[in-house]
Amino acid sequence: MNLESLVLYDKIHQCVTLSGVAAKKGRHTTIKDLGVIENAAVVVDSDTARILWIGKSLELPQQFKEIVNQYSCEGEVWLPELVECHTHLVFAGDRSHDFAMRSSGKTYTQIAAEGGGILTTLSQTRQASVQELLERAQIDIDRFQKLGVGTIEIKSGYGLSLESEIKILKCIQTLQQIVSVQLVPTFMPAHAIPPEFKERSDDYVKLICEEWIPEITKLQLASYFDVFIEDGYFSVPQAEKLCLTAKDKGLSIKIHADQFKSLGGTSLAVKLEAQSVDHLDHINREDIKALSNSPTVAVLCPGASLFTGTPYAPARELIDGGARVALTTDFNPGTCPSRNLPLMTTLACTQMKMTVAESIAGITYNAAAALGMENEIGSLEIGKLFRVCQIKGSSYESLPYMFGELE
Ligand SMILES: [Zn+2]
Repeated sequence: MNLESLVLYDKIHQCVTLSGVAAKKGRHTTIKDLGVIENAAVVVDSDTARILWIGKSLELPQQFKEIVNQYSCEGEVWLPELVECHTHLVFAGDRSHDFAMRSSGKTYTQIAAEGGGILTTLSQTRQASVQELLERAQIDIDRFQKLGVGTIEIKSGYGLSLESEIKILKCIQTLQQIVSVQLVPTFMPAHAIPPEFKERSDDYVKLICEEWIPEITKLQLASYFDVFIEDGYFSVPQAEKLCLTAKDKGLSIKIHADQFKSLGGTSLAVKLEAQSVDHLDHINREDIKALSNSPTVAVLCPGASLFTGTPYAPARELIDGGARVALTTDFNPGTCPSRNLPLMTTLACTQMKMTVAESIAGITYNAAAALGMENEIGSLEIGKLFRVCQIKGSSYESLPYMFGELE
C-alpha cells in the first residue's frame, strides 16, 4: 500500500457515520442507527477521494499509524456532507409581492390566477441573460455550501419554452464547472402551464413528449424528469404520459404531489417506481401505506409549509409506516426562498414531530437516496466518497438545536 497517498484524520471528537441508517436503507431510523463514533479516526485514499478505514482512534490498525499526512481534529463534530435533494435554484427576480398578497389573505391558487405565482418568475427568467442567471445561482449555491451542503439537485421549470428550458439546464451545466458542490440537473417543463398553452394543456403535454424530452435527452442535459400534479397544473393522466415518455428516454422520475390536494400523484409515483415523491402535505392514508412499502423516497418540505402557512406533511405516519423520509428546503422564489437546509431539521422536529436522528437521516442518507446516490454519499463508510460537513457545538444534536445558525 502506498502510504503517501493516504491521509489520516485522527482524534475527531464525534463522527456521525449513519452506518445503521444505510444498513436499514433509511427506514425506521433510531439514535443507534446514526452510528456515532466518539474519538474517531478516518483514513482517506486521496487518489480516489474515498474512505479506506473509519473507526475509533484507539482501534486504528497498525499499518495506518505510519501515515505521513496526519491531522488532529480535536473538538470537531463530523457528519456526511448534507444533501439538498429538491431545489428550483435557477431563476430571476423575487416574489416578495406574492408574499405580501398571501399575507393579506390570498391563496397560492388565487395569486396564480391573478397573474402572480410561477408565471411572474417565468417571464423574468425568460428575459434574463445567462450571465444574470449564473451570478444569482452562484450566490445561492455558495449559501447552501456555507451551511454544510455538498450536493444540490436543481430543476429547470421557470422557462417553459424549449429555448429557455435549455438555457436554464445549460446554466446548471456551466455552474457544475464553476462550483465545488455536486449538482444534479432535473428537467421540469411540467412545472406550470405556460401562457401560450392556456386552456390547452394537453397540447403542451404532447409537445413536451414528442419534441422536448427527446431534445433534452439528446443533449444530455438532465438526469431526472419532474412534474407538478395539482389542480390548474397537471393531472395524473397527463403526468403519467409525461413520466412514461421520460422514463423511456432514460430519465429517472420525481413527482411533486399532494401539496395542496390529494389527487393520486403519490400512487402514480409508486406505480412508476419514481426515485422520489415530494411535498405530500395532503397525502391520504392509502397513499401513505403505498409509499411505506416502496423504494420511492418521500421528500418533505417543511420550509414551504412554514412560509405559506399551510399544513405540514404527516411525517410521523410516513416514518412509522416504514417510508424513507428526506427533508428539503424546496428552495424557490415563491414558496420557500430559504437556502438553510439545517433549519429544516429544526422544523421537522418541532412541527412534524420527527426525532433528531430521523431529521439528520433526512438531510443526509435519505436525501442521497432521493437522488439515487446513496451508494456514494449520505453516510461515512468504507468505500464511500470522503465528503464531510463539520458543525460547531458539542455534538450532532446541535444541528437541529442551532435553529439554522450552523455557521
Ligand atoms: Zn418544488
